[in-house]
Amino acid sequence: MSEKFDLLVIGGGSGGLAHAQRAAEYGARAAVVESGPLGGTCVNVGCVPKKVMWYAAHHAHQFHHAADYGFDIDVNGHDWRGLKTRRDAYIERLNGIYENNLDKRGVTYIAGHARFTGTHTVDVNGTAYEAGRIVIATGGRPMVPDIPGAGHGITSDDFFELEERPQRVLVAGSGYIAVELAGVFNALGSDVHVVVRKDRILRTFDTMLSDELMEAMGRNGIDLDTGAVPASVERTGDGLVLHAEDGRTFGPVDSIVWAIGRSPNVESLDLGNAGVEQDDDGFIPTDKFQRTNVENVFALGDVTGRAALTPVAIAAGRRLGDRLYGGVEGRHLEYELIPTVIFSHPTIGTVGLTEDEARAAYGDDVKVYLSAFNGMYYALGLDKQRSVMKLITAGDDERVIGAHVIGDGADEMMQGFAVAIRMGATKKDFDDTVAIHPTSSEEFVTMR
Ligand code: FAD
Ligand code: NDP
Repeated sequence: MSEKFDLLVIGGGSGGLAHAQRAAEYGARAAVVESGPLGGTCVNVGCVPKKVMWYAAHHAHQFHHAADYGFDIDVNGHDWRGLKTRRDAYIERLNGIYENNLDKRGVTYIAGHARFTGTHTVDVNGTAYEAGRIVIATGGRPMVPDIPGAGHGITSDDFFELEERPQRVLVAGSGYIAVELAGVFNALGSDVHVVVRKDRILRTFDTMLSDELMEAMGRNGIDLDTGAVPASVERTGDGLVLHAEDGRTFGPVDSIVWAIGRSPNVESLDLGNAGVEQDDDGFIPTDKFQRTNVENVFALGDVTGRAALTPVAIAAGRRLGDRLYGGVEGRHLEYELIPTVIFSHPTIGTVGLTEDEARAAYGDDVKVYLSAFNGMYYALGLDKQRSVMKLITAGDDERVIGAHVIGDGADEMMQGFAVAIRMGATKKDFDDTVAIHPTSSEEFVTMR
């Protein structure tokens, strides 16, 4: 006899936990199966430890300006190992909190690896379970290129295992993780080389953001090469060397970090036993209600291949819970206008369409406002980091359809603007909003 639940969620990460807890709050008998530590990618090898490292890097940047403000300080090094110990302890506390939260809501926590044995049945390390509905929230893992010697490199997961900071680092990739980890290594004292296979970093973002960040990275001492497709990695007596397809070599370095995207955790789920379909990259496609092609099986979060962000997985999970167990008919997540931040140095905040996307969609109806300035923080010294903001509008009423900012404070700036833009704010609404002075964000409401 297998144990029966109303709901069985596979994956105790951001989305799976959010969904199971919401369903349980409505009275569902729910269970979560998790093969690793609770909290998933975000808590263990993602947002949380990454943000701790970003804070460390942010401190390092601020030390450069301390003298401008009258401080006489010498920074006598940085204790990477000590920071890691404190960071790990924090995450362990979070793992415990997540387990308590399940307990408090009466969600059964099943530690182990789940695989389908039918549309309603799952095996976890030899024990059978049955459920009315099954939700797949198994997330993803870092990709490593299929080239000779790739195994000499590390991934973002391994980054969080590093007990010591490598002095010479090569980061291969061009997205979120590449620029975030490059920024941390650079600020904490490593020699960093970023190798990009196309013409720029952050190619899917507004070009203003990638241009500005490439310049800022250069100013911070990060080497950046474009058009270099990784072909092989060689271990030499002096370290690792990356060979590019065009014959260029990069290195030697102490560590190569692959930051080239993530693939879904699906292989060992035996999806075939439930008949769940996947796309060509292995992701599980769903409709707007998170439904897969199998009636009682749903999928959410990174495993669906859409907007791989923690709040997206959480929102999808909660809304699905509201709809299936709370009687909130039609409730679903809209995947447009999702704000996002890149924890680079300086940070980037963005929501809505890029200028290129806007022009493709609205043609001549697009009007763009741009503001570039040095924030007051830099007024007293010579070392300045400029901020740039772009507001994109469409139509006669100049509805704001995109907002992009790079500069100090961008990470904390975009959430509120995202609300306004979601509500359909126009340029006039921005103009009619009284500025908060002196801040950088006030530029968003004073652009002409
Ligand atoms: P996950 O959190 O990955 O959870 C899936 C869980 O399923 C895992 O715990 C896994 O062990 C488990 N699992 C897999 N297969 C099985 C199985 N067969 N049986 C049982 N359990 C299984 N997002 C942000 O919004 N902001 C950030 O700043 C940010 N920073 C990031 C930094 C890094 C380095 C990385 C890698 C990601 C970052 N993300 C960030 C993305 C964010 O972590 C993910 O979008 C989010 O964790 C996705 O949640 P999820 O529930 O879909 O999957
Ligand atoms: P991304 O998708 O952001 O970027 C990876 C990029 O690497 C690709 O877009 C591609 O860019 C390049 N690339 C792909 N394959 C290769 C290859 N073989 N060799 C060299 N370059 C290659 O992936 P990440 O791994 O950086 O992050 C995964 C996801 O996690 C992000 O998309 C994001 O959703 C989430 N995340 C969110 C964060 C946040 O919210 N702050 C932080 C970190 C991650 P191109 O085609 O231009 O070469």
